[in-house]
Amino acid sequence: MKQVTILGATGSVGQSTLDIVARHRDRFALYALTANDNDQKMRQLCRQFEPRYVVMADADSAQRLSEVIADLSTEVLSGESCLAQVAADDGVDIVVAAIVGAAGLLPTLAAIRGGKRVLLANKESLVMAGALFMDEVRQHQAKLLPVDSEHNAIFQCLPPGSIGQAALESGVHRIILTGSGGPFRDIDIAQLENVTPEQACAHPNWDMGPKISVDSATMMNKGLEMIEACWLFAVDQSDIDIVLHRQSIVHSMVSYLDGSVIAQLGNPDMRTPIANALAWPERIESGAEPLDLLQVSQLDFTLADESRYPCLGLAREAWHRGGNSMAILNAANEVAVEQFLQRNINFIEIPRLITQVMEQISTGPADRLDSILQADASARELALSLVVSGVN
Ligand code: NAD
Ligand code: MG
Repeated sequence: MKQVTILGATGSVGQSTLDIVARHRDRFALYALTANDNDQKMRQLCRQFEPRYVVMADADSAQRLSEVIADLSTEVLSGESCLAQVAADDGVDIVVAAIVGAAGLLPTLAAIRGGKRVLLANKESLVMAGALFMDEVRQHQAKLLPVDSEHNAIFQCLPPGSIGQAALESGVHRIILTGSGGPFRDIDIAQLENVTPEQACAHPNWDMGPKISVDSATMMNKGLEMIEACWLFAVDQSDIDIVLHRQSIVHSMVSYLDGSVIAQLGNPDMRTPIANALAWPERIESGAEPLDLLQVSQLDFTLADESRYPCLGLAREAWHRGGNSMAILNAANEVAVEQFLQRNINFIEIPRLITQVMEQISTGPADRLDSILQADASARELALSLVVSGVN
């Protein structure tokens, strides 16, 4: 029986994980569930799963929750230190890192320092602190397994033991990262100025949280994933091809020196990569529909047009600059997406705002956690002030 903590249990990845846990209660027990402030949703989850602990980041939500589930054995905690505690406790075997954004960094690092099996969905934490993050994985012998569907696909296509190992030393020629192109892949570029948050969040193939949905529409998601792949598989961005694949059936591929290309295919359902990582190296039923290739019938691959997706170039630039540039890129993007969702800026101002932040903050080292957090805070502050003064 594996004891599981889900960081970000009320979110999209959290829900998919709980769906799998519910199918395999003989294998997985819930040690802790955590969330930001959605106590209504957490109340339902507690009634259904009765975990040992619940952590709400927000103290008022924790207070409300503890009143309505007083009859359960679940203990309700609150605050950042408790998030780290339920990620690192001795009783925990598996931590699913599914908080969105930089808020996931400290709890994810706590799980790594606890030497856990860490299922990484929270790509922002790896993007902002890559070198330090991977060092901690090695130092504490944590078992890092990617849940992001592309990286889980690449992981499945590489030889065993590939995480943190230089992929090119295993006969790999290139890594081919696929992306759907999001909801605006076919609209006239001139129309992008007028698209709404609702349209941006209506992804053609995947059902996800709002932040990653907007990232998919700008393709910053693919830029962050390119950086994520560089850290996970110890490659350079020049070793990665980004290919548009509108059906979202081929989740990514690895091309080898002998001409072989190995791909992982499946319906676009996060339960597949999550189940893969939860049970690895075994295989368990995930609830995902089996793939019917005759029904899919056609798989298309095209080049991503970077004039439609300027965020791809920004992510490349950040990787190229190195150091804390990726923390700056990530923080500026988080602010830009939030401001777009709140209708304070329009869609094409997202890359403009990030560009301005990257121009105005110079690159520094990222070898210490406090300097990474400082870069994150400075970039957020600058991005917000640029929104107030007007993005141009
Ligand atoms: P979501 O918005 O649906 O859920 C986010 C979760 O994080 C919620 O449980 C929320 O309570 C929690 N949270 C948010 N802010 C917090 C804070 N300050 N402190 C503590 N907890 C906080 O997001 P999602 O779509 O599930 O994505 C989660 C992560 O997984 C993201 O990093 C995303 O990029 C990645 N990811 C998601 C998908 C997907 O299909 N949704 C696919 C691949 C990767
Ligand atoms: Mg992905």
